[in-house]
Amino acid sequence: MESRKAKGFLTKIMLFHKLFRGLLCGGKLTCLSFQIWAQSAESKALPIHPLRFSDVRVEDSFWSPKFKIWSSKTTFDVFDKLEGKHEPEPPDVIAGKEKLPPARNAFQNFDWVAEGKKNTQTHLGLPWYDGLAYETIRGASDLLSEYPNKALENKIDGYIERIIAAQNADPDSYINTYTTLICPARRWGANGGNDRWQHDLYNAGMLMEAGVHYYRATGKIKLLHAAVKMSHYICKEMGQLPKKNVIPGHGGPEEALLKVYQLFKEQPRLKSKMSVPVNENDYLAMVKFWIEARGNYGEKDGSHARKSDSSYNQDHEPVFQQQTIEGHAVRATLLATGITATAIETGDRRYRQTAGRYWNNMAGKRMFITGGQGAVAKDERFGEDYFLPESAYLETCAAIGAGFFSEKMNELEANGKYMDEFERVIYNNFLSGISLGGDHYFYENPLIGNGNKRWAWHGCPCCPPMILKLAGAIPQYIYAYDEQHLYVNLFIGSEATFKIGGTEARLKQETNYPWQGLTTIRVTPTRTAKFSICVRIPGWAEGKENPSDLYYSKVKGKVSLKVNAAPVAASSKNGYVSITRAWKKGDVIELNLPMEPRRVVAHDFAEALKGKVAIASGPVIYSLEELDNPGLKDYVLNAKTAFKVQYQQGQLGGINVIDGEAADASGKQVIFRAIPFYALGNRQPGAPYKTWIQVSHK
Ligand SMILES: [Zn+2]
Repeated sequence: MESRKAKGFLTKIMLFHKLFRGLLCGGKLTCLSFQIWAQSAESKALPIHPLRFSDVRVEDSFWSPKFKIWSSKTTFDVFDKLEGKHEPEPPDVIAGKEKLPPARNAFQNFDWVAEGKKNTQTHLGLPWYDGLAYETIRGASDLLSEYPNKALENKIDGYIERIIAAQNADPDSYINTYTTLICPARRWGANGGNDRWQHDLYNAGMLMEAGVHYYRATGKIKLLHAAVKMSHYICKEMGQLPKKNVIPGHGGPEEALLKVYQLFKEQPRLKSKMSVPVNENDYLAMVKFWIEARGNYGEKDGSHARKSDSSYNQDHEPVFQQQTIEGHAVRATLLATGITATAIETGDRRYRQTAGRYWNNMAGKRMFITGGQGAVAKDERFGEDYFLPESAYLETCAAIGAGFFSEKMNELEANGKYMDEFERVIYNNFLSGISLGGDHYFYENPLIGNGNKRWAWHGCPCCPPMILKLAGAIPQYIYAYDEQHLYVNLFIGSEATFKIGGTEARLKQETNYPWQGLTTIRVTPTRTAKFSICVRIPGWAEGKENPSDLYYSKVKGKVSLKVNAAPVAASSKNGYVSITRAWKKGDVIELNLPMEPRRVVAHDFAEALKGKVAIASGPVIYSLEELDNPGLKDYVLNAKTAFKVQYQQGQLGGINVIDGEAADASGKQVIFRAIPFYALGNRQPGAPYKTWIQVSHK
């Protein structure tokens, strides 16, 4: 009876997935004035750490206007829409209107649970709506750290009260509104339930992150306290025998709970403000269990049994044995980020090797030129190696997950190749996910388009909260540090303060990147002190488009690096040129990167891209929109064409456009115009576009 019921429930889930699959969602150098040693990053103490928000301020012609829109408009837009103030648009509603109630107010669910409602069979939106609310709070928290906004903070405080009221209605402090309102007997997917659908643990993980990020942004502990109560309950319920064998049905909680662990390790006095005992080591053990129990379904005698999941949720074999990154691309990249974070925390070689294998496979064989991930629409999965069709699915959330993963890999190994791929994400598949106006969003980001439009809202609005999470995090990732080295990872106008070797130092970075290649970094230590500044040299700037040669390009021009106007040999090791000297007030580093447009071709194994080129300038990938290029579908690029670059202030928020020669269907020479991929669809939503263009060698 039970198993028939379970089968019925699973069949329903599978049917739901089937129906709505579109959804789911540096040698010694000669210098006249002084000595500089450029050295390898290999000898460095690892890992490296991103900066705290309080230590970095962004003032950048490209990013600052975007941060302003995201913090003052997008945050409110996403919260309002999560409150059901905007109906999903029909063509993008993945769940049929008849299956979901019309007003999908995520916060109404919390209110119902707070009122004591249970098993009412009424829940608004999808099971992961709680998680989306928490994710939006996390993203907004990080943006608040850089851009204080009392109205936004008050709004979040109001939501937190409603979340806490819902949690307080449960004697265990358990909170997942879907399970409570629809299937309370199936907590954690027990009794025929399925955490993969219910998202008990995913939502809990997002609550943990929201609690930690909101506390770090505001010093307020209420949401953190709610997260700790839930973490406490989780640690009582699952883990090694005799506890339950439960793993998250969606990656993400691993890194989230690790953040709670790290917060209490860093601030042990915070424990006394919690109403439940906090032993942070239990959290770390839980994180490791969640990772190591994947692919391990129980003991041979049947005890501690768990129903196996599949590669969809990276549960097909033990994680440390998995050779490739598989399954649902958002789940996989968020799990990978958690595995990397655990490798950093524990130094465990197995975690490090697994993370490295995942990353090499992802970035070296499965990544799209825009940083997109997850080629296959069905189950939103990674495709096979070198399966890189132009019409690929490429959910915004998956590129963002890959961005978080790449940044975390750089913390682990201090190798600029990871930030190359992080940068590929942020200037391309991340930015394309949101309109320039900040209130329309893409779910899918294929490299060829005809009719796909950003929506105001979606039945599965998972991408906007993920966009806010990465948007909020970017300032932290501009720089990194360890005991002796400052790393300049991103070229974004900003000021940062570091403590290094007992000295405080300030860096002021000025740049017009990505439209111009010159970046100036002024160094101001409180006293003259010897340390290293490691400047990232992007792979593409040295003729290495991708670390595994998934893509190739040649760049015209050379990298130039100077300190106080004296040249520094700019050959990088591990993606950085490390400049070690006694830094004094007024020292200036000048980096000039070759931004001339380059033709990118894909690896021979990428069948879909044979005979085609893409155009890139710096980190920005370009596309042709039919609006500028009538008859685009038949364009054949003249292989010998020169590219003309112009900055257009009034176009699409201010962009470089690239013009060149192509032949149209009749063979007539035409001038094409390319704009950044991220800016597509902002003049005429749904306008046809292409990113890979057939090339003629005549
Ligand atoms: Zn998404």
